[in-house]
Order: sequence, then structure tokens, then C-alpha cells
Amino acid sequence: MIQDKGYLLNLLSVFEEATFGIAFIDPEGNWKKGNSNFLHFTGCSEEDFSGFTWDDVFEKNESNTGFSSLITAASSRFSPVVLKVLRKDGRRVWLNVFLLRLENKHLACIAEDISREMIFKELDQLERNVLEKNALPYYRLEEVLDEFIRGLEQIFPETVCSIMKVSDGKVYCWSAKGLPEDYLREIEGASIGPKAGSCGTAAFFKTAVIVEDISTDYRWEPYKSTIISHGYKACWSTPILSASGKVLATFAIYYKKVKSPESQELNFINRSGKILAIILENYLSIQSLKQSNQRFQYVTEATSEAIWDADLRKGTVVWSQGYQTLFGHPYQQEEMDGSSWSDYIHPDDYAGVTGSIERIIDSRKKTWTQAYRFRKADGSYLRVEDKGLVVRDPEGKPLRMVGAMRDISTQYAYNSSLKELNRSLEASKKHLEATNAELEQYAFIASHHLQEPLRMVIGFMDKLYKSYGSELDDKASRYVLFALNGAIQMRQQILDLQEYGAIGKNETNAQFRWLETSQLVTDALRVNSEFIQQTSAIIEFGNLPRIWGDKRTLIQVFEHLILNGIKYQPPSQKARIVISSQKKDGETVIYVQDNGLGIDKAYHEKIFLLFQRLHGKDAFPGTGIGLSLCKKIIEHHGGTIWLESEVGKGSTFYFTIPEKVD
Ligand code: ADP
Repeated sequence: MIQDKGYLLNLLSVFEEATFGIAFIDPEGNWKKGNSNFLHFTGCSEEDFSGFTWDDVFEKNESNTGFSSLITAASSRFSPVVLKVLRKDGRRVWLNVFLLRLENKHLACIAEDISREMIFKELDQLERNVLEKNALPYYRLEEVLDEFIRGLEQIFPETVCSIMKVSDGKVYCWSAKGLPEDYLREIEGASIGPKAGSCGTAAFFKTAVIVEDISTDYRWEPYKSTIISHGYKACWSTPILSASGKVLATFAIYYKKVKSPESQELNFINRSGKILAIILENYLSIQSLKQSNQRFQYVTEATSEAIWDADLRKGTVVWSQGYQTLFGHPYQQEEMDGSSWSDYIHPDDYAGVTGSIERIIDSRKKTWTQAYRFRKADGSYLRVEDKGLVVRDPEGKPLRMVGAMRDISTQYAYNSSLKELNRSLEASKKHLEATNAELEQYAFIASHHLQEPLRMVIGFMDKLYKSYGSELDDKASRYVLFALNGAIQMRQQILDLQEYGAIGKNETNAQFRWLETSQLVTDALRVNSEFIQQTSAIIEFGNLPRIWGDKRTLIQVFEHLILNGIKYQPPSQKARIVISSQKKDGETVIYVQDNGLGIDKAYHEKIFLLFQRLHGKDAFPGTGIGLSLCKKIIEHHGGTIWLESEVGKGSTFYFTIPEKVD
């Protein structure tokens, strides 16, 4: 027995001052005495402690099935055991406990607080579990988040955690099993902002918001009554940001006491935020992958093309449904041997197709296009156009080729028939050109050859009339005059025809110039001034544009239109001609208007044909070529000519000359 009082006092101070928790317990498991550290670790007061048993302090679990089983199991020596304590203040403490038998059958319990290490160990385990689950395709995001929150709440029993999704500036509950339902309903869809509770504010400012006392914090003003009514007093929230800095969610911890975080807790919030960012980023990338896969699926179903994805290293290919639809070959979703493509290329096209692919792969080029024949399941060949894209690694090494084959048989047949048509058109054109040249030659020769005998006929008839007119009786004189007029008319017709044939003969616009239309009119009037004066016709012109064209032929147009206007008048009526321009359908239209006889609508097109005349030669002399010539000239300029007229109300001839194209 130790008798020395001093020694005992020393022992007592060692007991009190020890960094370990030390407590004594009797053989039945009743606590006898504990040093202040032991009381602090277990969160008990001295009074509680005296009435408590072992099982009141340590949580039962697999490694602690109760005091009696612990005593029975240990033979002579106890091994250290990790035990959990849930303190009155809600904190969980892990103790490394070592038991020592004393002489009076009592036991000494020596405990070391290992909570810090254990919290991190458990957190580590929890994080590993949720990340593993997150990587597996069959877990929903909500399940993973729930598991994470549940695990955290078990490690930190005094907390309730929540994860809120942030979308379009609003918060929605993702996981918050421990929070009261009426509060969750209240904040569902709430807008983020500078005064939107801890989460809404954290999302708004993209920074952690630590509210130690909800009741006095201005940021909680709109929501505090409900959450306070459930006893919550503090809420710390941190935003979860994507790699690009977008707020995906908020992670919050609620306490039922006013509380500011210790550095270890800030660490933990930070760490949880990072894990959640990984989980959410992963989820979002899977979502977008799913979406693009689905999009691809829809596209492959919607299009009639056979889409293919070839792995150049493995020599395999994956086809879309179109492979079967287009060619009738059996379709499978999995990879197929690359020969499922090359075997069906037409033997005559094989070398060209495979060679062109090899060249593209060897080069740095990205795209490949080839048209060839591809065998169908029934043995026939389909003309296809195949387009591919080479996917390379950063060093430029080819990895994959993705592309689509399209049936171009109809287009091919159409193109072939078009080529055939073009060939026959070309042949007809050549034939026509030859015939035209022949005709022109013929017309030229005929008109030249006719001029000579005509000149003779006119000359001799004239002589006959002048020399022997007095000897001929009236009837014979009239006959001679008829013959003379006929020959003169014929000469005019031949001259007009020659003019007509000359228009556009050497298809060239080289003599085109900018022309003042008023000048063209003036020139036309000057040439015919004698006739105009004789008839006392009134000619008015103005508001005429500058046009791009051939001076000589355009003067001819004005001459014909003006002279016709003067010529085709009722007897004793003075002609009144107006030449001007107006806008019609956005185009400048030049017109020549007269107050003459007018033309029945039935002849509005006919009069532009060669030799078409509506009036007799005796009443109104003419060759029937003037308007055809005008039409040819205007069309040679790329314009159109038409008229508006009514019998007895005069006529207006319109024509357009297109703008100059540079
Ligand atoms: P030509 O005047 O030499 O007969 P055109 O080709 O100039 O030949 O005219 C064809 C026909 O159109 C004329 O014969 C005439 O009957 C009719 N015509 C042409 N211009 C007018 C007009 N301004 N008013 C009435 N009839 C016209």
C-alpha cells in the first residue's frame, strides 16, 4: 500500500494534469471518477458522471457491443479500442480507449481524443463512396447527393446539410432530407440576390456566406421566421462553381445554435464544396454527353444516310441504322469489322476509293469525299457519295474517321441525262448555226443580186414614163406607174430587210455608250424634219433618262415609232406625239405616245412580226418591217417592247433598256 501522502498528491496531480482522459470504473461498469480531460472528452459534468455507466457514455457499434461483453472477451490484457461518444452538445467524439485492470478489480480507462483524425478518415471514406457511386451509370444524381448529405450529417450529428441547385437565377432543392418541409417549400424557386438567405446570397455573390445568427442577419430577413420556428439559428453556405466559374449549386450547413466556424470547419466546408463540384461537373458532362448521343441517335434515324464511325487503329466500324435501310445489309449496334465496308465497293472503284482514303489519312487533311458504287444485299450496286472527317490526336496521328454515305443514284441518272441533253443541244445548235449562216449568205446574195435588176427595172420604167408618157394613153400610163411604184416598194423592202438582218449579227456590245435619250430623239427628228414639217405634227419630249446602248440603232427605234405615230392618223388630223419616261415596277420605261388611229388589242403582238400590216398600202405606205426592227433592236439591248392602245384613242409604245451592269 502506498502510505506516502506526498506521493499520493503527486499521483493525483498527474491524474488531473494528464493530456489523456483517465477515469475509473467498477467491475459492474459504473463510473467512479474521471479527470477533467475525460469529462471534457465525453461532454459529461462531474454530477452526470457519478451516476453513469460505461454504456451511457460510449455508443454501441460493431467494435463496442457493451461493457459486459468487452470484459468477458478480454482475458488478461485489453487491446486499445476506438469508441464513439455522442456528447450532450451534439458533437461526436472519437476516443482511443485503453483499459487497465487494477488490483481491486476496478478498471482504469485511459482515453485519447482522436476525433480530428477520425473525422477526416470518415470524410475520406464518405467522399470515396460517393465519388465511386457518381462514376457508376445506374445511380441518379439525387441518390449520390442524398448519400453525401446523410454521411456528413452522421459525421457531424449537430448539423443538417442541404444542396440547392442554382438555375436561371433561382434556387431549387437537390438534396435536403433533414430540413423542414414547409421551409423547403418556401425557398423552392426563390431568386438569388444580395438578401436571399445564406444560399441565395452565396449564389449571387459567388462567395461563401457565413451567417452565425439568422435572427439578426439582414440577409435572412425574407425567410427567417419559418426556419427560426424550427429552432435553426446558424446557416453557412458556399457556392459550388463549375470549372468555367458558373454557379451550379450551393452547399449549406444549418445549426440549431448560434455558431461561427472554426478553421477546421471552414476547411471541411471548402473540401465538401470541391467534392460536390466534381460530382456536379461529372453529372453535367454526362448529361450533355447523353443529350448529344440522343441527338446523334435522332439524326441517324431521321436521315436516310448511312452514318459510319471507323476506328482507324482497330480497323472496326460502327454503322447507323441507315446502313440497313440503304443497302439492306444486317445492322448491328456494336462495332463491325472494317471489311463490312470495303468488301462491298465495286471492284472497278475499289482502288480509287481506298487509295484516296489512304492519301487523306497520310496527309494533314481533314475531309474526304468520294463517289463510287456500293453493293447492296441483293447484289445490285447503288451509286453513293461518301463524305468523311478524319479525327486526329494533337500530334496529328489519325484516330477515327466519321462520315456518311448518301444515295446519289437519282442525281447521277439525272446528271447523265442532262449531259446527254446538253450533247444533243450542242449538236442542234451547231446545225442551226450552220443553217443560219447559210440563210444569211443566201439572203445577202439574193438581196444584192436583186438590187441590180431592180435598179434596172426602176431606171427603165422611169425612162419609159418620162420619154413616152405623152404617147401612152391613160390606162397604159397608170400601168407603168403601178409597175414603177411596185419596184420602188420592193427596193425599200429589200433595204429594210437588210437592216433587219444586220441587227445583232456580230453579237457585240462594243459600240454601246452612255447616251442622252433626248439627244437620240433630237437626231431622229432632224433626219425626218422635212416630213415632220409637211405634216405640221407637234412633237413634245422631256424627262428622258441617260441610257447605255447603241446610238445608231436606238435612233432608228425613235424614228420608226415617231413616224408611225404621225403616219397612222385619221385624215386631216394633226399628229401630236409625246416622248417621255415613267417608272413602272421599279424600272424606267421610255414611251412614245400618239393621238392616232389606235390598234385593236387583238393585234398588239402581231404587229411586231415581220411584214404584218394592219392598213392597206394605198392608204398608208410601208413595208411592215419597222416594228419588227424596233423589237429586234430593243431585245438586242436586253429590253422589252410593248404597247397600250385602243382603236380611235391613239397608241402608246413602251420600251425598257436595262441598267448597265459593270
Ligand atoms: P409599216 O408602218 O411599214 O407598215 P410597221 O412594222 O412599222 O410597218 O407597222 C406595222 C403595222 O402596225 C402598220 O402597218 C400599222 O398597221 C400598224 N401600226 C404601227 N404603228 C402604228 C400606230 N402608231 N398607230 C396605228 N397603227 C400602227
